[in-house]
Amino acid sequence: MEKLSNPKVTIEIIKKYNFAFQKRFGQNFLIDSHVIEKIIRAADINKEDTVIEIGPGIGTLTQYLAEAAGKVIAIEIDKNLMPVLDETLAEYDNVEIINEDVLKVDINKLIGEGKTCKVVANLPYYITTPIIMGLLENNVPASSITVMVQKEVAMRMQAKPGSKDYGALSLAVSYYAEPYIVANVPENCFMPRPNVGSAVIKLTRWGEKPVNVENEKLMFDIIRASFNQRRKTLQNGIKNASWLDYSKEDIVAALGKMGLDEAIRGEALTLEQFAELSDFLNK
Ligand code: SAM
Repeated sequence: MEKLSNPKVTIEIIKKYNFAFQKRFGQNFLIDSHVIEKIIRAADINKEDTVIEIGPGIGTLTQYLAEAAGKVIAIEIDKNLMPVLDETLAEYDNVEIINEDVLKVDINKLIGEGKTCKVVANLPYYITTPIIMGLLENNVPASSITVMVQKEVAMRMQAKPGSKDYGALSLAVSYYAEPYIVANVPENCFMPRPNVGSAVIKLTRWGEKPVNVENEKLMFDIIRASFNQRRKTLQNGIKNASWLDYSKEDIVAALGKMGLDEAIRGEALTLEQFAELSDFLNK
């Protein structure tokens, strides 16, 4: 069939199946072939690759992925889309559709032991952070994650210390991967149009982590505490976090050893400094 990236073809399919867009599932389908080609190029897919797609929708991006990759495993929550995908992907025999909530699927199991994958998706924006954090923290063996996200989230993912967008998400991304913004994407590339700007970001997993830390979980618990109350000092954030048990003295002593002011805020610390602070508090 002609590709769904042609808006006319998308409209025909939507009408044929009497499909009602569900806002609660973040359904904004791509209708621009140039944007899709950019995503495919950035994701650098070849016939050796297994691609995990999150939220195939009516299969617009999936059609291109199926042509470029060896295998595509696409996870879609909306059961109303199953008959649509049967038709739009009928000519590809390398696509497996899983009708599940991506947050409940064990992706490691889907890929199979010892295998790797690339993740490519136009994400449902209402769950971008849990999806990305899940992929990174659960050590899904993805060499890269190339995704469409809300522009503001893309800015947060690649923010540097001291900037207004810098926070727990920036630190988590920088610990696991190198972020690169591939393109900004205007609203008119989607149907229906979202009411926020969008961007494609590629996260390439580090071969080796950029910092060594004794207790990874503790470092991320400290990071979460430090940004929990943005206007507070780092010291107060950590002291007030119900999931941590440190006194003011413990924290001031650790900051002192690091040569940092006791009134410093979380947004001023680099990933290396959070790792160092975590190692001091771990003792
Ligand atoms: N890939 C299609 C495209 O680019 O045109 C659709 C992208 S649309 C932004 C997001 C898709 O994710 C929708 O099809 C939606 O139903 C699906 N989705 C939403 N929540 C999901 C979840 N928890 N698990 C799996 N898929 C989900």
